[in-house]
Amino acid sequence: MSVTAKLVKVFTVDKQIDALQSRLKVAEKVLAEQTKLASDFEAKRAKVEGDIKTLQAQASNFEGESKRLEDKINKLKEQMNTAQTNKQYQAFLVEVNTMGNEKGAAEKSALELLEKIDGLRKQSDELAAQRQERESMAGVAKNNRDTRATEIKDKLEALKAERATNAADVPSDVLRDYERTFHQRGEDTVAHVELQSRKDQEFTCGGCMMLIPVQAVNGLLASGKITMCTNCRCYLYVNDDLKQQLAEPNKPKSRKSKSEAEAL
Ligand SMILES: [Zn+2]
Repeated sequence: MSVTAKLVKVFTVDKQIDALQSRLKVAEKVLAEQTKLASDFEAKRAKVEGDIKTLQAQASNFEGESKRLEDKINKLKEQMNTAQTNKQYQAFLVEVNTMGNEKGAAEKSALELLEKIDGLRKQSDELAAQRQERESMAGVAKNNRDTRATEIKDKLEALKAERATNAADVPSDVLRDYERTFHQRGEDTVAHVELQSRKDQEFTCGGCMMLIPVQAVNGLLASGKITMCTNCRCYLYVNDDLKQQLAEPNKPKSRKSKSEAEAL
């Protein structure tokens, strides 16, 4: 068996493995995406919770300040009652008023911060709900993935074993190049040669439809050496149908069987 034929055998199994794993891969992709989104929402929520803590500390400072001023005002009011002169009384009154203003300002600041905290709490709740939603989507994807993995397990193992046997026949450098290509291009890695005109010896690549030099086709027919399309860089091979067709005498395409053709 030629190296191209061996490679095509590997490719045929690789395509089956790919198809078998496609639903699994979709579920894995969804799982990864939703898990990432859930953790993004959680990170945002954690940041908002951090902001809430900072603002709470600031608010309680203002509340403490307001309480401290209130105590002081109460003391001053007691002292006011013992004022000896009107001048003394007026001085206390000015101080009480000033502190009253300061207390008002501290209360206002505390209130503003508490309002901000309320807004942030709502944000945090929304983020938690969004995280929850993503987590449940990730849960569904995880179930899908696990179910699919179980469904295909036996078939996949059998294909992998078949693939290993086929791959062992292919020279390692050829296999390495092929695997790199398959990783990037999947089912477009290999294409068969198509006959356009027997009379004009015109062949095209089944992948990109560009012309293939007849020498390349002859090389494939003679030795099956690794041959790539110079345009799309896929691996080319000649399938059995075309081999049979080319083995028949050069005459207009008929539906006669090979033995009939040979008898003519
Ligand atoms: Zn091509």
